[in-house]
Amino acid sequence: MSIKENLQTVKNNMLKAAERAGRNPEDVTLIAVSKTKPVEMIREAYDLGIRDFGENKVQELVDKYDMLPGDIRWHLIGHLQTNKVKYIVDKAYLIHSVDSVKLAKEISKEASKRSLTVNILIEVNVSGEESKFGVSPDKLLETTEEIAALPAINIKGLMTVAPYVVDSEQNRGIFAQMMKFTVDIMQKNIDNVSMDFISMGMSGDYEVAIEEGATYIRVGTSIFGERNYNKF
Ligand SMILES: *Cc1c(COP(=O)(O)O)cnc(C)c1O
Repeated sequence: MSIKENLQTVKNNMLKAAERAGRNPEDVTLIAVSKTKPVEMIREAYDLGIRDFGENKVQELVDKYDMLPGDIRWHLIGHLQTNKVKYIVDKAYLIHSVDSVKLAKEISKEASKRSLTVNILIEVNVSGEESKFGVSPDKLLETTEEIAALPAINIKGLMTVAPYVVDSEQNRGIFAQMMKFTVDIMQKNIDNVSMDFISMGMSGDYEVAIEEGATYIRVGTSIFGERNYNKF
């Protein structure tokens, strides 16, 4: 299958999922996850109209940023170490993976230095898996309030990486909980906090995620094919 055909399939599935849920399809944005994939493939997706790309490593995002058109919105979706923040604050359109106050403080500091405001999502570890990054649900409100108080940073919503499952229905409860967390946070009316975005759903489960309220889905394999981690 070509990138073009894959994109058509994904977009068609997105449309149908939004329809099933009675949602406006325009409220769901596809992020093409291009990690490990060469710039030629990104260029191909770009030429087919994609402007949102997701990377999980700072160095790879920075390298690709320099080689590709300036109107691409680069989403940092992978774990971010505090010592790498300075390389990314002026390049990431949205940082999805803020999982601690410490990291947020570093982002705030580097953004302030450059007179920028950085848009972030707070990553939530809904499933509680040890191997996953993210704030635990019981600390979410407190963490949101602390980060919201920092200068030069705006919280725009929440992100989660759901477990790998064979049947996507198994993640429906997790996606529904994410929606509930955004409602709970909105009710607190915290300054500098909006819940405009919920980033959830990957190749295996993006349709269920859309049905449960995702506004960003992050799809790699279903667009670009399987990843070869030795390559980039
Ligand atoms: C790799 C990755 C994706 C995309 O995964 P696919 O299963 O290839 O669609 C989505 N989100 C995050 C955080 C990732 O690291």
